[in-house]
Amino acid sequence: MTRGQFKIYRCPECGHLSLTSSSKSTKCPYCNALIHLTPSRVVARFENAREASEYLKKLKSKPSGFKKL
Ligand SMILES: [Zn+2]
Repeated sequence: MTRGQFKIYRCPECGHLSLTSSSKSTKCPYCNALIHLTPSRVVARFENAREASEYLKKLKSKPSGFKKL
């Protein structure tokens, strides 16, 4: 039932994508907001950290999407 311990989530405060292994809530490393990991905020789930960080890298390297300059 607890598949995909590692989650990529989007911070509702600053919009950054980040990675966590906690199940309920985490802190955004960019703006320090406390984020409850609701399904709508979790972008993807992975079973190991390496896969997750590679996917995160891909997401971040996408030219489209939200990008603050
Ligand atoms: Zn944030």
